[in-house]
Amino acid sequence: MTTPQYFTSLAGAVCALFGEGTKIEKINRISGGDINEACCLTLTGGRQVFMKSNAKENLSLFEAELEGLNAIARTKTIGTPKILGIGTDESRGSVSFLLLEFIHSKGCGANYWEEFARRLLDMHRASTDGLVANGKYGFNGDNYIGRRRQLNTGYDSWIDFFRDCRLEPQFRDAQRYFEKEDWKKINRMLARLDKILVEPDKPSLLHGDLWGGNVIAGNDGKAWLIDPAVYVGHAEADLAMTELFGGFPRVFYDAYREAAPLHPEYEHRRDVYNLYHLLNHLNMFGRMYLPEIQDIIGRM
Ligand code: ADP
Repeated sequence: MTTPQYFTSLAGAVCALFGEGTKIEKINRISGGDINEACCLTLTGGRQVFMKSNAKENLSLFEAELEGLNAIARTKTIGTPKILGIGTDESRGSVSFLLLEFIHSKGCGANYWEEFARRLLDMHRASTDGLVANGKYGFNGDNYIGRRRQLNTGYDSWIDFFRDCRLEPQFRDAQRYFEKEDWKKINRMLARLDKILVEPDKPSLLHGDLWGGNVIAGNDGKAWLIDPAVYVGHAEADLAMTELFGGFPRVFYDAYREAAPLHPEYEHRRDVYNLYHLLNHLNMFGRMYLPEIQDIIGRM
């Protein structure tokens, strides 16, 4: 686990981290992210560093990201990029930045997906002691899902947490998209959430935004996790998210299920977990996500 240094200039960060006189020789933009500018900094001597930047007032996005990376790294189960530093820089148009180890992916090693499944399960089984203030579910501080704030108030009940901190705030923000008939179904579903979801046997640390773009072949050829929206919850919610945008290869699910059989009703609950992400997309990107949401609420 790292306690990163806070810097007030990028040039100062590079010198403090890699030695006096180190300069940024080249900046190459990297595509693929939705929220931040990502780039590869090439420094004097050829060393490469990954940098995310955003407006200065969005520094809290990076503070939350590093808390999440630290929480995952603490479990010693799955690789995450090393955190190098965080800070702001007035000379670059008032930006905030996060510096991470650059992942020089050499492709996927043998049994990549099976091994990832087993490591993810280890992460889900790791102790969550100290991660939630005042409760079993939530996290020590709110964070972000995409660019929207994610509430992590501590709760003793997973179902109450998922209703109050996940579904309800998203439905509230999406109010304008729904008609009276939709609200009847939504309120009915929320009122009977304890009949749809179950309390887990044990709380799990979740990546929280586990789609394919956030799993990357690391420097060791194994799957690493990036860009987390961590919290402590039911492991099923992480698995559900993996299935939302196309899914992972079959061998991943087989390996996970072989080590930890899923509850027979998981597939029904999956849609409710994913409702949270679909609503978040509705609130971020607009109404193309509405039909899928209406379909789910109509079936619950
Ligand atoms: P955003 O916060 O905007 O969603 P991402 O974390 O998804 O950004 O990263 C943007 C791009 O940078 C993605 O293509 C991702 O694969 C790549 N990337 C993320 N972290 C690293 C890293 N440490 N080293 C190299 N590339 C990375």
